[in-house]
Amino acid sequence: MPIDPKPTASHYINGEYVEDTAGTPIDVIYAATGEKIAQVHSATPEIIDRALNAARDAQAAWAALTGTERGRVLRRAADIMRARNRELSELETYDTGKPLQETLYVDATSAADALEYFGGLAGALTGEYIPQPGGDFVYTMRKPLGVCVGLGAWNYPTQISCWKGAPALACGNTMVFKPSETTPLCALKVAEILTEAGAPPGVYNVVQGLGDVGAALTTDPRVAKVSLTGSVPTGKKVYSAAAAQMKHVTMELGGKSPLIIFDDADLENAVSGAILGNFYSTGQVCSNGTRVFVHKAIKAAFLKRMAERLDGAVIGDPMDEATSFGPMVSAAQREIVLGYIEKGKEEGATLAYGGAVIEGPGNYIQPTIFADVTDDMTIAREEIFGPVMAVLDFEEEDEVIARANDTEFGLSGGVFTQDLTRAHRVIAAVDAGTCYINTYNLAPVEAPFGGMKGSGVGRENSKEAINSYSEVKAVYVAMNDVEAPF
Ligand code: NDP
Repeated sequence: MPIDPKPTASHYINGEYVEDTAGTPIDVIYAATGEKIAQVHSATPEIIDRALNAARDAQAAWAALTGTERGRVLRRAADIMRARNRELSELETYDTGKPLQETLYVDATSAADALEYFGGLAGALTGEYIPQPGGDFVYTMRKPLGVCVGLGAWNYPTQISCWKGAPALACGNTMVFKPSETTPLCALKVAEILTEAGAPPGVYNVVQGLGDVGAALTTDPRVAKVSLTGSVPTGKKVYSAAAAQMKHVTMELGGKSPLIIFDDADLENAVSGAILGNFYSTGQVCSNGTRVFVHKAIKAAFLKRMAERLDGAVIGDPMDEATSFGPMVSAAQREIVLGYIEKGKEEGATLAYGGAVIEGPGNYIQPTIFADVTDDMTIAREEIFGPVMAVLDFEEEDEVIARANDTEFGLSGGVFTQDLTRAHRVIAAVDAGTCYINTYNLAPVEAPFGGMKGSGVGRENSKEAINSYSEVKAVYVAMNDVEAPF
């Protein structure tokens, strides 16, 4: 029997669950059945105020701990998450509909990796000594920013809450996290686990709500930084609202990333990479390589092998560990994806695989491939955020690089080739922040993750994330008399 997904209460503030039924109800719908499995309430202005006050009041004492002490809390939380991986994975499956086959290996585990990694780094966040003439010197200190707000998308609710929370807390900030209204459950568990691991009350708070709650958090003067994972249109709104008060931002936004497969590629590996980059999590991954440029010479073989491999997908109950392809997160998201499939047909692309709803309960849809896609088609230009792969033909290296870069986005990019120098040459020319050679979509916590151009600002994970959650203060120290002109 899977766990009961109902949360203790809607919000988590100051180290405890808090309810306020005056907020608009938000139903939590299980994507696999369409059943309502829980309900939370959107944060009222009082709840938002309480959460921000709790985070503000807790921040100075949290920052005054040594980095090692803060890190110990994060590392304990990582251990608890690993010990409870099954329970957390089932909750992630209830929240998102992603199959347990994925969530058991990717969600709480990558969240725990972030807690462990930034827990380890916390004690090493030191300043610099910069010598100056005459024995003078400058020293630097790394200061936390204060209260950080995290705004999450619905595709990886556990992971996103920790990719933001772990570096923020490691640096001595406190956080108010607002999950997507579609997936409100997992972040509450993260907050509960952090408390159990020893995080003082107020250090990590969760409030529920729609965009209006996110907007209220973004514009509040108590907030020093906003980190969003979401779509480009939301990113533009949040970035400009934050700019009005000169707040720091991290923007992890959408993409339409190119995956370039040359004719000398190992075909089986390329097909595997294209599967990971288009159909994992039912295609609901920001970094997906959804514009698959396939060299003309191997196009037929590629499409044939893709179809054979997709025939092997096990579509069904996400709680069954044999299932490898689950439903879309919501009926609304499935409608958006179906709209793009219609557009693809209308604009003359060849529907090479799938394309239909799977009848019955839940938001199921077939994995879908379009071939003969051209650069100007809507399905080649806009982010679909569903299991729809667009295959585009190419012949020349220069041509494919120019076409790969002809997009407002710049999150990811990949190349499959056995030619070593070509692999590095091509990937160096792709304007994207997170790239792959002969694989796709791996996101280890030790490596920076994030986008260029319209896909965002700043990086998550790795030591780079420290720069996003702290600022450097320089202090000039004179060891000599002060010389003034008069
Ligand atoms: P949205 O942009 O719709 O929402 C993201 C979050 O922002 C949600 O919590 C949302 O609340 C909130 N929000 C919406 N409007 C505002 C506002 N005006 N002010 C403050 N907060 C607001 O994204 P989705 O949840 O639909 O997620 C899908 C998108 O996320 C895709 O475009 C995808 O590419 C991107 N994404 C990017 C990733 C990356 O790392 N680059 C990773 C994963 C996804 P609510 O939805 O509850 O209304």
